[in-house]
Amino acid sequence: MKNTTKAIHTRYQRRDAYDALQMPVYHTLAYEFDDADVMADAFCGRTNAPDYSRVLNPTVTHFEERIANLTGAKEVSAFTSGMAAISAMLMSAASAGKNIISSKHLFGNTYLLLTKTMLRYGVEARLTDLTDPAAVEALVDENTCCIFLESVTNPQTEVADVKALAAIAHKHGFPLIADTTMIPFTQFDGKALGLDFQVVSTTKYVSGGATSLGGVIIDYGNFPDISLFIKKDCVFNFGGYMTPHAAYMQTLGLETMQVRYERQADSALKLAKMLEQTPGVVAVGYPGLESHPQHELFTEQYGDKAGAMLTFDLESEDACKRFINGLKLIHRATNLFDNRTLAIHPASTIFGPLTQEQRDAMDIKDTTIRLSVGLEDPEDLYSDITQALLA
Ligand code: PLP
Repeated sequence: MKNTTKAIHTRYQRRDAYDALQMPVYHTLAYEFDDADVMADAFCGRTNAPDYSRVLNPTVTHFEERIANLTGAKEVSAFTSGMAAISAMLMSAASAGKNIISSKHLFGNTYLLLTKTMLRYGVEARLTDLTDPAAVEALVDENTCCIFLESVTNPQTEVADVKALAAIAHKHGFPLIADTTMIPFTQFDGKALGLDFQVVSTTKYVSGGATSLGGVIIDYGNFPDISLFIKKDCVFNFGGYMTPHAAYMQTLGLETMQVRYERQADSALKLAKMLEQTPGVVAVGYPGLESHPQHELFTEQYGDKAGAMLTFDLESEDACKRFINGLKLIHRATNLFDNRTLAIHPASTIFGPLTQEQRDAMDIKDTTIRLSVGLEDPEDLYSDITQALLA
């Protein structure tokens, strides 16, 4: 089956008592057992019967299984948010005294997780240019526990060579982990690229119109000790397991994700091309443009649809603020891959709490606008952009 079919036709583990076509939402915390031995087997993990919904819930399990079916993963673990999945992933790969090699260009909270939160637990972040494999290799030592990349960095739209990074990680015996939120996992083969784990904020493309928060770890099973830590220590002891309601919303979102993605990516490319020709626009960042420095690498790794996020630069910060204030159709809001188009000035909002030095180190420019392109007609979006530019 192709992915568009699989996204809809993954069966539940058991047939529903009423033959419901949609996966029922099991809004229950506890489960009853027929006898003491069946109960003991469930609690000790000898069967996969759920015992308590902080660690296992049939609606969440079904969501995880659909993603496993779509990606060929050995195991998928669902969490309450993208950050919960990322922190569980990195806490599972690292321990005190270890270091993680990653990029200077990271999503804001991931940057703070690595450089501030995990530092407190004795884990060092070594941030470098992941587009330079020699620079990465130079940072590896006996305490390196993983390389962590983002498929397309936000908002710099930088793309690293995943196969080159996988070769370094595997030569030294540690995993390559990618946050692939920016390109849906149905668009590429993470395993063939050499990824050992993907982490995804399912709040974005999967949820379908920004309905719910969620995150998943997609685990190809190459590092069983880390897999065990995710399932046992993280889910049981840290908490953060996805709620059944979110799993229900996100399973619905998964069914329409590819159709929405194709439409949004096509509109984003159209807008990116028009913006390149628009007076007042100094530069456009979108991996689908031939002018993008990693356009060919992007296409080779992630296919011919380049996502629904694009950035463009105006002459000054003031011009950016006037543009944002002038929008009439496009919403002034954060988030990515909502059904509606959203615009934000990252330097003063998402990265606003950081110092100027930190923003400079991360190449966050005062002149950049980030657009998450929705399902509207691209002509209507372009009209709003041009009238706001005139403002
Ligand atoms: N990773 C990336 C690339 C993101 O853009 C975001 C949120 O914008 C996250 C992770 C965090 O996801 P969540 O908001 O679901 O915790």
